Amino acid sequence: MAGVEQEQTRSEKPSEPWVIGVDLGGTKIAVGAVNRQGQVLARTVLPTPVSDGPQSVLAAIAEGMRQIAAGQSTPPAAVGLASPGPMDNKTGVAVAAANVGWYDFPVSGPLQSRFGWPIYLENDANAAALGEWAFGAGRGVENLIYVTISTGIGMGAVLHGRLYQGSHFTAGEAGHMVLVPDGPLCTCGERGCWEALASGTAITREAREAVARHPESLLAALAGGDPLRVSVAQVGEAVRRGDPVAQEVWERAVHYLEIGFTNLANLFDPDLFVVGGGVTNLSDLFLGRVEGYINAHANPGMRGRLKMVRAGLGSDSGVLGAAAVAWQGLPSESWVEQARQEAV
Ligand SMILES: [Zn+2]
Repeated sequence: MAGVEQEQTRSEKPSEPWVIGVDLGGTKIAVGAVNRQGQVLARTVLPTPVSDGPQSVLAAIAEGMRQIAAGQSTPPAAVGLASPGPMDNKTGVAVAAANVGWYDFPVSGPLQSRFGWPIYLENDANAAALGEWAFGAGRGVENLIYVTISTGIGMGAVLHGRLYQGSHFTAGEAGHMVLVPDGPLCTCGERGCWEALASGTAITREAREAVARHPESLLAALAGGDPLRVSVAQVGEAVRRGDPVAQEVWERAVHYLEIGFTNLANLFDPDLFVVGGGVTNLSDLFLGRVEGYINAHANPGMRGRLKMVRAGLGSDSGVLGAAAVAWQGLPSESWVEQARQEAV
């Protein structure tokens, strides 16, 4: 297969149990071998052949799995596969992974009949939540809410040490909580959803409009005078340099983050919020403020006790989240206990 980048390191302890984590995205498929402690033993990245059709995407995943397994001396204990959209782990079917053209598409069956390994599917935000709980910033806590703020806003909940999936594998669509009736149109077709107000896409949209209205602003200068070139990073830079036009855009988005996280605190009363996604590159400009706000505005019983941290897994977070799904899917509940004990 053309265009495959591969970077592999052999496990120092080849006989230890390991799993495969598959992070399926619209442009690339990251596949890794991961041990129980969350170390990535080997990894490979393949392009996602979306234009070749849904079966080609599945074939590329299988090729990544084959490459990773070929580098290890024992077969994997299980495979975890994380993808955007709802994933029905009971039937092994991707319900709707729009970015790769999978609709009611069987995933686990074909892979299992080829390799014979247990396969566990999960939504990517849920997998990231479990990965942060098992290996990252949320190790050992009882109740963790993970929120990713990037092009959209996604959420995953680990409650009492288990991922909460909902009855239709769709729990945690916090990005579609409506905060402003008749607000900006969302990708889901509704109006005023949280992600239409505070995601990277929403910030960019507001910044473009602000630049068009204020061509004299620093933000406009950073974008070379072209509203279409405005980025979230430029908004952050202009905020730091005191540009009132950027600050107005930013303050509005941060306030919607404050309100959205307060709603989540009131719903879940978690030990910890873990926040990931591209917008956290500007975490110093909002994370502490949002934490302060929720501790002043959530229900009085939890005020002053809510914590919020940036996600800890970095560039391997997708693979590690999928691997955590594989570990949690295995019948040995002991892994959950072990992960907790090791964190204490
Ligand atoms: Zn929506």
